Amino acid sequence: MAGNIRLEVVTPEKYVVDEDVQIAVAPGSLGEFGVLIGHTPFLTTLKTGVMHYTDASGTQRYVFVSGGFAEALPDKMTVLAESAERRKDIDVDRAKAAMERAQERLAQSKAEDIDFNRAKAALERALHRIRLCETRR
Ligand code: ATP
Repeated sequence: MAGNIRLEVVTPEKYVVDEDVQIAVAPGSLGEFGVLIGHTPFLTTLKTGVMHYTDASGTQRYVFVSGGFAEALPDKMTVLAESAERRKDIDVDRAKAAMERAQERLAQSKAEDIDFNRAKAALERALHRIRLCETRR
């Protein structure tokens, strides 16, 4: 192993991750990308989805991220997101309630309404949270 990078995942409310990792993989707007030590510097916006990383001891970890961007440097990756939660911190019942609310709003609004796009984004967040809780161990 050539060495670790520092991974920071930050929201306006809290530090979600701040640790040394072997590799970090995140859902960039143009596609998923991985960062190892020595990566060329770059900046990208993120899609709502799940990022994962291998921690210094070799354990795979998963983090939901929504709305933000990531900066890769040769020895560091920083994710600034509107919301982010480690898998273990996701409240799946809350996500299911959010999914149902979003589905009701979608059924009641038209595709050109602002509410429709908001509900679509809320549904996407809820579905990623639920999927992460239910499929990754
Ligand atoms: P909700 O309608 O339940 O608030 P949301 O998708 O609109 O869901 P966000 O705007 O993405 O929520 O996040 C607001 C705050 O609540 C953030 O701090 C986020 O980490 C937290 N959060 C949202 N949903 C969950 C969840 N299911 N489990 C844990 N934390 C959550």
